[in-house]
Amino acid sequence: MDKVIVVKLGGAIFGSHDTTIEDIVELQQQGRLLIIVHGGAKVVTEWLSRQGISTRFVDGERVTDKTMLEMVTAVLGGLVNKEIVASINTLGGRAVGISGVDGGLIKGRIKSDQMGYMGTVVKVDSALLEALLQSGYIPVVAPVSLYSFDRPDKAPPILNINGDPVAGEIAAAIGAERLIFLTDVVGICDASGKLLPKLSPNELEALVASGVVSGGMIPKIRACLRALSTTSTTRIIDGTQPHTLLREIEGGSGGTTIQRLSMVD
Ligand code: ADP
Ligand code: MG
Repeated sequence: MDKVIVVKLGGAIFGSHDTTIEDIVELQQQGRLLIIVHGGAKVVTEWLSRQGISTRFVDGERVTDKTMLEMVTAVLGGLVNKEIVASINTLGGRAVGISGVDGGLIKGRIKSDQMGYMGTVVKVDSALLEALLQSGYIPVVAPVSLYSFDRPDKAPPILNINGDPVAGEIAAAIGAERLIFLTDVVGICDASGKLLPKLSPNELEALVASGVVSGGMIPKIRACLRALSTTSTTRIIDGTQPHTLLREIEGGSGGTTIQRLSMVD
């Protein structure tokens, strides 16, 4: 599995002029092994607000009650996942949509009582991912996961887990070649908004501690640091530009590279 590229699609790819799906199909046709993990927070928020339910985020993660958990499962595991898979298959790719509950892929526990059914990943079982890759499919993973640890009897068997840690844990578990986050900013920026092209784990911790990095960027950083145990390259790049993913695989510049300390020059 050391040739696999794990790509997390953030909110940026759900725009009407997006070329990411085309890039995914092109990369598959080149023989690349891809695992896609997607978010979709904005779509979930939109569906919740149609029901008059407002959303609260803590450090980029949604406080999730039971109604929200049902909505997350329906919208991320259903609508968003199927739209991505349908688009890939329509353009001539071969993709299968799954979620963290399928094949027991992602097993988690709740983060804290305050976060409700927002979970954290405890264990990854990558058998289904490997089977799909070996059969020539791109697994497209919705981060709806199993509530497997410390679950009270009456609690639902499902957890809402942010797509960033799910992508990071999958990359770590399979020893992916690269982990790439496509997001809606140029990369990680300093306090003046300037792009930081290369960061070490220590520099990242300092940026988080000082508050320069906040919100949805925090789980991405944590995921990159986690994946670096087995994954050689982790990148956070701008998914709003056309063909970002294709250019990235072909050695593109831009974005932020997070490297192990010993590799920073
Ligand atoms: P995604 O859908 O890709 O997960 P998020 O909104 O969750 O997107 O996370 C990306 C956001 O993180 C950016 O839009 C930006 O508002 C925020 N952010 C916080 N701190 C930083 C930083 N230092 N550099 C860049 N983005 C940051
Ligand atoms: Mg996010």
